[in-house]
Amino acid sequence: MKPPAPLPNILANTLANTLDLIGNTPLVRLAGPSEAAGCDIYGKCEFANPGASVKDRAALGIIRDAESSGELKPDGTVIEGTAGNTGIGIALVANALGYKTVIVMPDNQSREKMDTLRALGARLVLVPPTKFANPGHFVHTSRRLAEETPGAIWANQFDNIANRRAHIETTAPEIWEQMGGKVDGFTCAAGTGGTIAGVGLGLKAKSEKVRIALTDPHGAALYSYYAEGELKSEGSSAAEGIGQGRITANLEGAPIDTQFRISDEEGLVWVGRLLQEEGLCLGLSSGINVAGAIELGKQLKADGIANPQVATILCDTGFRYLSSLYNPEWLAEKELPVFDWLKSGNGADRDD
Ligand code: PMP
Repeated sequence: MKPPAPLPNILANTLANTLDLIGNTPLVRLAGPSEAAGCDIYGKCEFANPGASVKDRAALGIIRDAESSGELKPDGTVIEGTAGNTGIGIALVANALGYKTVIVMPDNQSREKMDTLRALGARLVLVPPTKFANPGHFVHTSRRLAEETPGAIWANQFDNIANRRAHIETTAPEIWEQMGGKVDGFTCAAGTGGTIAGVGLGLKAKSEKVRIALTDPHGAALYSYYAEGELKSEGSSAAEGIGQGRITANLEGAPIDTQFRISDEEGLVWVGRLLQEEGLCLGLSSGINVAGAIELGKQLKADGIANPQVATILCDTGFRYLSSLYNPEWLAEKELPVFDWLKSGNGADRDD
């Protein structure tokens, strides 16, 4: 029998609905980082999700889970406390499924995230940034709002493990397949921990040999937790969406084999190089992840693994940070180095 004729391209690349646009992101070999590590470093292009970040997956996973448990009913409201990307994911998924969205966010997050949430039709509640122990913290504020609002659910991304399940079920098998089953290492930073724990668990289910590394920014407490068993932070970071001070439910039992601590300056080097040399405009957590992936690649090589292949997450688009990461005044205010091409007198102030 003759094999069936392939579907015309227009059908092969056509999805049944917009929610199917979430996930199945490309994986790309990163030339500069691979050269720096002396082995292949791959980036999972999570900026290619409809909400331009990795958090679309968690948003979809959490909302689908609340629907199937019966907690989220037609015309319901999804309420969440978020640094921004989860809110954007929730707003898009909620719009597609007919729910309302309320987002509570610290008022020091990027302007672009706030404008995007408003543009998507979410109700935005801004609160001052405080320590987690303070009842005014954005997470606690969002929980109280959900309790007080009829027909609302609290997405609870930090402690709702539907978040990491989305990565166990989608991100991990995608990476495994895209790398043809040769995954020697995976690393990324943690915000909720959903990505590192979920991808870690999913890849370990494929092979126990995959080395899972946490890449922690300064100011977070997880590096010392995995290195020494104590939640302790050091320094600070301007990176949005990452940096955790506690073991969230998503992080419980995460199979972390090793850990790296990466500074904003190191992360920025890779944000700048990926932009200039490879045409990728990313946020700072992606740069920190790439710096961690290079460390992991070097470690695997030093341990005698032949031609190690390492994957990491390119978490979100840099277009979300034009007023911060790509703004010389913001960088100077944070005492971070300004990209050469943004320095005045270097063409940055020209309009032509
Ligand atoms: N990078 C960015 C830009 C994010 O918004 C987030 C989510 N908070 C992360 C990384 C970390 O992802 P996770 O919550 O799965 O740990």
